[in-house]
Amino acid sequence: MNLILFGAPGAGKGTQALELAKSYQIPHISTGEMFRQAMAKHTPMGDEAAKYINKGNLVPDDVTIGIVKERLSNPDCQNGFILDGFPRTTFQAESLEKILQESNKKIDYVIDIDVNQDALIQRLTGRRMCSKCGASYHIIHRPSKIEGVCDECGNELYIRKDDNLESVKTRLETYQKQTKPLIDFYKQRDCLVVIDGNQDIKKVFADIVSKLGDNK
Ligand code: ADP
Ligand code: AMP
Repeated sequence: MNLILFGAPGAGKGTQALELAKSYQIPHISTGEMFRQAMAKHTPMGDEAAKYINKGNLVPDDVTIGIVKERLSNPDCQNGFILDGFPRTTFQAESLEKILQESNKKIDYVIDIDVNQDALIQRLTGRRMCSKCGASYHIIHRPSKIEGVCDECGNELYIRKDDNLESVKTRLETYQKQTKPLIDFYKQRDCLVVIDGNQDIKKVFADIVSKLGDNK
């Protein structure tokens, strides 16, 4: 099953993707996480991406599409994948379609996790991330069992540089202008599923699974 987890920054895409990847045994591909790893290693691509990411702007399409194309050619994507945070522009969505067509594939579902704007700001400014496995916590909604330590892998939690109020506002505006129009793009392709993301984490997961059914 080839999935896209769609939604504004803070909607809960990473949180749900991690669980879906375990349940459906398909890789979770987060462009944001790939950039953060490249930034931590100071690769040339990471240093270039950091200029955009730390200000809350999108990384240029050519760079982003390049890393996704390479990642999707990996054998672990043969039986499906979960894209999280990609595509974010119409050009990215069109490019993805072409990349998949080259190997006779298509997107089965685009899961739009819909969350109110006020909740998004609260979620992003209270987020804590694991530097190793990418798990996402929240100081109020999903605290780790031991403060500052990842429940999954025991690593240290950190606050993303772009989770400050100024970058958050820029990212939410960018989402409205450049990414939200993709909802119509995927509606036209008849693969859009809308989920109420204002509910608690477990209920959102249950709703997604019930829409996907047994298509493992
Ligand atoms: P995204 O990947 O869409 O940017 P995350 O999955 O990182 O979002 O979630 C953003 C923040 O909101 C995290 O702190 C996470 O723990 C929290 N969160 C995720 N889903 C929910 C939910 N359904 N209710 C409350 N908080 C949530
Ligand atoms: P995320 O982890 O999905 O919140 O992404 C973090 C940041 O990485 C975004 O704010 C962008 O700067 C960058 N990024 C991630 N995915 C993309 C994408 N598909 N296109 C452009 N920039 C991206």
